[in-house]
Amino acid sequence: MFNWERNPAVAPPCCDLPREPLRERAWVEVDLTALAHNVRQIRGLLSPQTDLMAVVKADAYGHGAVTVAQTILQHGVTWLGVATIPEGIALREAGIRAPILILGATHTPEQIQAIAGWELQPTLCTPKQALVFSETLGALGQTLGVHVKLDTGMSRLGTPWQAATEFVQLVHRLPGLEITSIYSHLATADNPDPTMMRQQQARFQRAIAQLRATGITPPRLHLANSAATLTDPALHYDLVRVGLGIYGLCPAPHLQSVVDLQPALQVKARVTQVKTIQPGTGVSYGHQFFAEETARIAVVGIGYADGVPRNLSGRMTALIRGERVPQIGAVTMDQLMLDISQIPEVQEGEVVTLLGRDGGYQITADDWAALLGTISWEILCGFKHRLPRVAMNLPQESPQQVIA
Ligand SMILES: *Cc1c(COP(=O)(O)O)cnc(C)c1O
Repeated sequence: MFNWERNPAVAPPCCDLPREPLRERAWVEVDLTALAHNVRQIRGLLSPQTDLMAVVKADAYGHGAVTVAQTILQHGVTWLGVATIPEGIALREAGIRAPILILGATHTPEQIQAIAGWELQPTLCTPKQALVFSETLGALGQTLGVHVKLDTGMSRLGTPWQAATEFVQLVHRLPGLEITSIYSHLATADNPDPTMMRQQQARFQRAIAQLRATGITPPRLHLANSAATLTDPALHYDLVRVGLGIYGLCPAPHLQSVVDLQPALQVKARVTQVKTIQPGTGVSYGHQFFAEETARIAVVGIGYADGVPRNLSGRMTALIRGERVPQIGAVTMDQLMLDISQIPEVQEGEVVTLLGRDGGYQITADDWAALLGTISWEILCGFKHRLPRVAMNLPQESPQQVIA
C-alpha cells in the first residue's frame, strides 16, 4: 500500500532511506467527491451566464491547490482565484490552463513579467500601479487582461468607488491593458443584517452606472464571496468568487439551509502509545491536567506544529472507535494526549479523527473556531505542510493519491 521505494530520479543512493509513508503519523484527508458535490450545489444557485470562480489561495485553504483545482475544474468551475503570483505559477506548472486571477496586489516590473509570462491576470487598484503595468508590458511588447478593483467599503485593496470612472478611463486608455473585469469585495456579507452589504452593492452599481454614462461598456462584473453567493442572486453579476463554500463550510449559521455543503477536509493521526495513569498524576507540560481517578490515556502523534492550536488544550475532543473522547493537558508541538478511559481497549496504531466524522459524531472547523473565538477560514488555513495531504474518495477508481 505504501511506496517505500526510492525514486532514482530524485534521490542519490546515499539518501536511499525510507521516508515516513502517508497516513503513518498524522495527515489531512481531502474528499474529492465532497468537493465536486459542493461545486455542483453552488453551481445550482447560479444562472447559466454566471461563471464560478473557485478561490484556491493559501493552497486551497489548506486542501492542496493543484488537486483541488484539477477536481473542481471538471465539475463546473471555470475560473481560479489566488492571492499571490507563486500560487498562480504552481497551478500553471501543474498544467492547469483555466484563467487565474491574482486577488492580491502586484507592483514591480519583475512581478509583471512573471504575470505576463505565466498568463496570469492581475488586479489593478491604483493609477500608479496601472502606469507601471502599461510601461512594463510596453517594453515586453505584450498585452494583458487586467481586473480593476474598486473599494466600495472594505477599505482594503481597490480604488475608492467615487474615483472609479476616472481610474477605469485611465486603464482603458493605457496601452497594453485590456480590462477583463471590474470588481469589488464585500466586508459584511456573512452578517444577517444586510445593511452594509446593500450599501456596498449600491456604491458598486452607482460606479458602474457612471462609467456607462461616459460611454465605457463595463466588461464582466463581480462582487460576491461565498456568503453573498448564498444570500441573493442579485449579487452574482457575471461571476462569483467562492472559497469557503467549495470546501464545504458555511460562511454563516443563517445561510446553513441554502445549500447542502459537505466539509471536504479531515484531520487524522495515530495513537502512538497507550498507558494507565494513577490518581494525582499530571499530564503534559505545566501539568494543566491531573487525573482524579485512575485513567487510561492515549498519546497521539499530532501537535501545534501540525496546526492543532495550542489554545485548544483541554478544551477539544477527538473521535476514536466512533466515540468522542476529551483531550487532556497541554497540546505539545508534535503530540497530544486523550483521555480514553471510556474505551480502554484502544491500541497503539489506531486512527484518531481530530476534524471529521467517526461513528455518529462530526467535529468541524466551525467547532474549533467557536472554541477559539475565530473563524473557520483560519482553522482550515492553519494545517501545516508537515501533514501530508491525501486525496480520498476520488470520483474515479483509484482509492488514494498523494497531493502534497
Ligand atoms: C478570499 C477571497 C474570496 C473568497 O472568500 P470566501 O468567503 O472564502 O468565499 C473572494 N474574493 C476575494 C477578493 C477574496 O480575497
